[in-house]
Amino acid sequence: MDIGTLAVVAVVIGLLPAAIAQSKGEDFLVWWIYGAAFFIVALPHALVLAPTRICPFCAEGIKPGAVVCPHCQRDLPAESAPPNQSSSGEAYWP
Ligand SMILES: [Zn+2]
Repeated sequence: MDIGTLAVVAVVIGLLPAAIAQSKGEDFLVWWIYGAAFFIVALPHALVLAPTRICPFCAEGIKPGAVVCPHCQRDLPAESAPPNQSSSGEAYWP
């Protein structure tokens, strides 16, 4: 297998973590390059990415802090805090 073939294989398998990361609101091109260069690291990294919000208008994944959807450019409603976040530091056990 020559270097050209290796490059083609890297570009093709890099699409997998890129597709996973894009579904979670990450940048496809950045993850494609990342996946092609470091597939062994990028694939599990993409799989464990923190879940992002889903746009209520176009149902695409968006980053947690976003105020405008990058896919449909609509203003997003205020982010609701995860239900277990406010309980940190408080004891709920008797
Ligand atoms: Zn949207």
